[in-house]
Amino acid sequence: MDFSRLAPVVPASLQLHRVSLHLTSPVQAAHGLHGERNVVLVELNEGWGECGAPDNPAYSGESADAAYEALSDIFFPLLTSQFTTREIPMSALDLRALIGEHHPDALVRFPMAVAALEMALLDAQLRADNIDFTQCFTIRETGDALAGATLGNTGSLDDLALSAAVAVREGYGRIKIKIAPNYDIEPIRAVRSALPDHIMLVADANGSYSADDLAHVAALHELGLDLVEQPFAAHDTATHQALVATATVRVALDEGVRTTQDALHAALNHECTDITLKPAKFGYPACVRLLNECHDQGIDAWVGGMFDTGVARWANVRLATHRGATLASDIGSSSRYWTSDITTPVETIEGKAHISHLAEVGLSGTPLL
Ligand SMILES: [Mg+2]
Repeated sequence: MDFSRLAPVVPASLQLHRVSLHLTSPVQAAHGLHGERNVVLVELNEGWGECGAPDNPAYSGESADAAYEALSDIFFPLLTSQFTTREIPMSALDLRALIGEHHPDALVRFPMAVAALEMALLDAQLRADNIDFTQCFTIRETGDALAGATLGNTGSLDDLALSAAVAVREGYGRIKIKIAPNYDIEPIRAVRSALPDHIMLVADANGSYSADDLAHVAALHELGLDLVEQPFAAHDTATHQALVATATVRVALDEGVRTTQDALHAALNHECTDITLKPAKFGYPACVRLLNECHDQGIDAWVGGMFDTGVARWANVRLATHRGATLASDIGSSSRYWTSDITTPVETIEGKAHISHLAEVGLSGTPLL
């Protein structure tokens, strides 16, 4: 089943929602604290989209407030004037071209708002045809998705090591922590000491190191770090290439890539060893095309998250069943993040997430608003 064969739908009903949630274990990243989220949701017919834009614009320049305004003031009126009022059906695959034709700057400035609208439209098309997103690509032989755990880090190093040990007991095969120039050696040592050797340790630096730190970052491998995510500033191509050339630690990018084309180019250009897909930025159709490419070219990849509610978390679980998603994805159990998720919670078993636990077809999880 190819997306292009999905029947287009008339976007007859369009609504925006906002939901506030607090993380059960706040995460201090180099660019700021993730403790609360005011999530923007798009409802289109029976479909749902979640906007990954955080409250603070430090991640990529796009905040939840800015994305909300772009959706309400630019993208919704465009759809309404072109399709809703004239009852013309449309397809998610045509959305970016439509926006690009009328608002080319907005397409570039609000990638997460665009992706949320595209997600809702694709979900509406899939649900209208009673098709599951996982039928649109080749899934892993086991049919499940490899899940990873991201640790909250606002307590002591002992607390961090304890939460790593708990995540291992829960079956996670990959543990991710946040690091920064003055917060790296100790937390990596503490967490590694709590992990069996075969558990992959990932550290996300959110671009906080400079070229002067190259040897330091490469040496973190000696402490048992397996992969570093976005060590240097976005667009610092040369330093990322230099780190990959040391062949010490695996390298992935996040803030440094805006599109799936950027991500593939970075891998082929030896700026990273593995690809992080951010469906919240790239959109789901583009992520499927990139995972097809990763599979064909033998590039390891995983699905990255944005502290998602179950609306996007279930979509990411579906995407992570793709056979090209070879590394554990940011799709840990809902309970790791929220006291109470707004959808049927994602629950991982032995480090795997199963879409069969959700009794509905489509792309997204349905919020119980
Ligand atoms: Mg990241």
